[in-house]
Order: sequence, then structure tokens, then C-alpha cells
Amino acid sequence: MQRTIDALADLGAAAALITPGPSLRYLTGYDAVALERLTCLILQPEREAVLVVPALEYPAAVAAGVEQLDLTLVIWQEQDDPVALVIDLLPAGAVVAVDDHMPAAKVLAFAEGLRAMPVLVGPALAGLQVIKSVNEIQELVAAGAAIDRVHGRMQEWLRPGRTEAQIGRDIAEAILGEGHARVDFVIVASGPNSASPHHAVSDRVVQVGEPVVVDIGGTTASGYCSDETRTYWVGATDSTFVAHYAALERAQQAAFDAARIGATAESVDTAAREVLADEGLGEWFVHRTGHGIGLSTHEEPYIVQGNTEPLREGMAFSIEPGFYIPGQWGARLEDIVVMTDAGAQRVNHCPRGLTVL
Ligand code: ZN
Ligand code: ZN
Repeated sequence: MQRTIDALADLGAAAALITPGPSLRYLTGYDAVALERLTCLILQPEREAVLVVPALEYPAAVAAGVEQLDLTLVIWQEQDDPVALVIDLLPAGAVVAVDDHMPAAKVLAFAEGLRAMPVLVGPALAGLQVIKSVNEIQELVAAGAAIDRVHGRMQEWLRPGRTEAQIGRDIAEAILGEGHARVDFVIVASGPNSASPHHAVSDRVVQVGEPVVVDIGGTTASGYCSDETRTYWVGATDSTFVAHYAALERAQQAAFDAARIGATAESVDTAAREVLADEGLGEWFVHRTGHGIGLSTHEEPYIVQGNTEPLREGMAFSIEPGFYIPGQWGARLEDIVVMTDAGAQRVNHCPRGLTVL
């Protein structure tokens, strides 16, 4: 919280207002439910932090341990106006830095009440969150192992004759069974659906002789996220696809090898892109190579052209090149890595080759 306050001057803000979401959890450990009722952490220089909580959420906040933190709890009752209550605790006309996840209705209420346009607190928090502590890395390693266990059981569910939706329901149950508190997403993209990077599931029946891209992730009890993609093949393989997939594996490895301390984020993207371009697949690699991960599935650093940020120890991100040929097929290979002084280290360890079922 103090480091967030220290970063406020650079934003030109007098206070930070943090509402339920990954930022509140990062700063306080409190995984508050996002409701229409306002829960809000107020951070400002030279003042004690204040957590404004609706009366009916008070027991949940206490259970999350907020009373052990260096902050004042302010409880509001149903008849109170919580926006006015927060504004009373701020300097008149203050420019506030609001949580990037704050609902627009609340942002506008604060803007109107303060008669000043808020700024986003995101840039200040991203600078802190992008470097994971040893404990955070342990949590990401545990999340990686949990989602590895789900991929390791894929042959139990992924069979021809079953629909993507049926397979997806089994996977979702296993995500919870294998060490997650929440299912974040389940992509089971079979046959031509594999050419849609963010296909979810459908009633399409999985056939013999086609790829199935399975990209799955959840949130563990500690709040840290998993995200892992493997591409499976059902039945006898196709030599063209096998060749394309081999290039994808080489592309992912090239990106992994390029991820060294001090290398730019975009250089990791370039490494993957060059391999796929050499294979004639460059135009079908339609997304960035990766994204940071922590208490959110997508956060800084983004592994994308134009991001010249150097990689630093403690960063955690995905390396997930893919190719997507419309109407035909696609594939993606995704691992989460953490940056150490010895280079990138994977938290996912499932076999990376094309798994034939
Ligand atoms: Zn993914
Ligand atoms: Zn991902």
C-alpha cells in the first residue's frame, strides 16, 4: 500500500481508490465480491489507509484478515451514501486514481462528486505487480502443477463422438478437483474450430482425424491463476499438420530461449514469429506471443511487438505461439514461465509434442 501511495505523485493523483478485483486482493488479501454496494480502499499520502465496507460485507472482510492490516475500517449502512462518505475523506477537488476495474457508474459518481476527472491507478500498480515475490512465484508454480494434472487426464474425456461441450464440462470439474477454487475458461476447439483462437466450446462432435486445441485455466485458493494450452490429435495423424505442429514447437522453444534477463519483451515475440514465418505460417500467427499472469490471467508484461520493456527477474508470463488457418485447422502451444537469473523457467511440464489420442 505504501509503494502504491509513493507512486501517486507520478500519476498527478492525490489518492487511490481501489475497488474489488485483483488490485484490492493484491494490496489487502481481501477477495471482495464486486457488488453494486461500494467497497473501496482509499490510499493517500500522510494518511492512514481506509477500507470502506458495506455493513453486510463486514464479516467477510474480517474473515479475509483486513483487521490485521494497517488500515481503518469504515462501515456503511444501507441508508448511507458511500460515495459521499469516501469524498468526505478526500481533499476537496482531488484528482483521484481509480482502480482500472472500477465500474463506470462509480467512476462517474466520483468524478461528479469531486468535480475532477479521475486517472487510472493501473500504471502505478502494474509496476509493482509485474515483479513477483518468491511467495507469488511459488503460488504460480502450484497453479501450473494443478493445471498440468488436468491436461494429464485428457484421455479420460477427449474422445471422438463426444461434443466439445461435454468434454468441457468434464474438464471444468477436473479444474476444480485438481487444486483450483474457480474455473476461469475452458476452450475445447475441435477440427475447423481450432482455427478460432478464443473459441470456447460448442455442440460440435469431435471426429477422428482432426486436431483439438485445449486451452484451460483457473484461479487457485490463493488467487493465483493457471493457463495452459496443449493441442491434441484424434486418430491417425496428417503429415501436413504434423509438420506445422513441429514448427510450432520450435517456435515456442525459440521464444523460450530468447527470454533472458535484459532481453526486450518484443524480442521474445520476434523469436517465435520468425520460426513460424520460415515455415510459411507467419500470416496465420494472429496474436501476440504472450501475456503476464498473476492474480489476473492477463496483465503486464505483454509479449508483443512494440513492448521494449526489458525482462526482469520475477516476471511471469505465457509463451503461446499458434497458427490458425480459417476453415481448416489451428494449433497453439502455451506454457507459463517465470524469469530467473538463469533465464526463463517453465511452471508447466506436460509433454509439448502433439499428443495423439
Ligand atoms: Zn491460454
Ligand atoms: Zn494465455
